[in-house]
Amino acid sequence: MDFASDNTAGASQAILAAIAAANEGSAQAYGADPLTARAALLLKEVFEREIACFLVNTGTAANALALAAIAPPFGAIFCHAQAHIMADECGAPEMFTGGAKLVGVAGRAGKIAPADLKTVLTDFPRGVEKQVQPAGLSLSQVTECGTIYTCQEIAELTALAHGAGLMVHMDGARFANALVSLHCTPAEMSWKAGIDVLSFGATKNGALACEAVLFFDPTKATSLPFQRKRSGHTLSKGRFLGAQMAAYLENGHWLDLAARANGHARRLAAGLAKIPGIRMPWPCEANEIFAILPGKIDAALKAGGALYYPWRFRDAGPDCAPPAKDDVFVRLVTSFATLPSDVDSFLTLARSAGGERI
Ligand SMILES: *Cc1c(COP(=O)(O)O)cnc(C)c1O
Repeated sequence: MDFASDNTAGASQAILAAIAAANEGSAQAYGADPLTARAALLLKEVFEREIACFLVNTGTAANALALAAIAPPFGAIFCHAQAHIMADECGAPEMFTGGAKLVGVAGRAGKIAPADLKTVLTDFPRGVEKQVQPAGLSLSQVTECGTIYTCQEIAELTALAHGAGLMVHMDGARFANALVSLHCTPAEMSWKAGIDVLSFGATKNGALACEAVLFFDPTKATSLPFQRKRSGHTLSKGRFLGAQMAAYLENGHWLDLAARANGHARRLAAGLAKIPGIRMPWPCEANEIFAILPGKIDAALKAGGALYYPWRFRDAGPDCAPPAKDDVFVRLVTSFATLPSDVDSFLTLARSAGGERI
């Protein structure tokens, strides 16, 4: 019963098979191989336009490189106060940009509200020599609270950012999970809604280690080849990245994987919602569930071997009472590899532990 993360799963069989197949014979190094070209072609088809794409191994590298391309060392990058780039990347965005400053914006359920962004942009001291200068906005889709922005919400935020002369990045570590929930096209959830640069995740959704930095205006990507190489993220045997991304996109494999992950989460959330004492501060909109568990349910689940992390959030928002003394705030994540029987076992354990508050 592993609900710790979507990267505790292995890689999908199809992607592993593609890596093994890519091992045959020789191929040009540093991404000049046919599989990387195939991946680039598929990305263009999926996003319905010309793009500049750069494959890397980790989401942190994708984010940090994307931000380095849009912000100068003296720039400010606005993001949600809980964003992965802010809280989980050990300063990589600051290092790769050469010192740009991340500016956290508070917001309910992991989302930045347009009104708050507007205020921050208006109040930020532009042109003042003592201050970093507004350069970028970064949005996480799926957010750090497992929620998703609608295309309309993204468009509102990007319009405000563009109006203030900023470029907009999307941290799409779980892009596929958000996409299959929104039932829109990849183009609609990205460039058509004003996203300039996308970290397009694949690892959490079935790749072994592969993410893409996508520029929807290729002229904005001229520095990236140098920044990627300089930071040690240009893979010499690049065909293995190309193989992963191509297999991920081929025949809609990525969408099938994400639909599976989301389906498991929906079922788990629906089951948990029926158990007295368990509270969920935010709706389960993709493949993550945040729940406040009474201590005895948490203990029974742990004793039964369930794996998940207590989460760092303390503020569940105005609609949800904060965790009581014995409560535990946890995050549960499903993946394409989640077993339906593990969802059942988890719910059975939680139910039998009883929901009454101690
Ligand atoms: C997992 C994740 C990443 C990428 O993390 P890596 O461990 O560097 O691959 C980026 N953003 C978000 C929101 C994530 O959840």
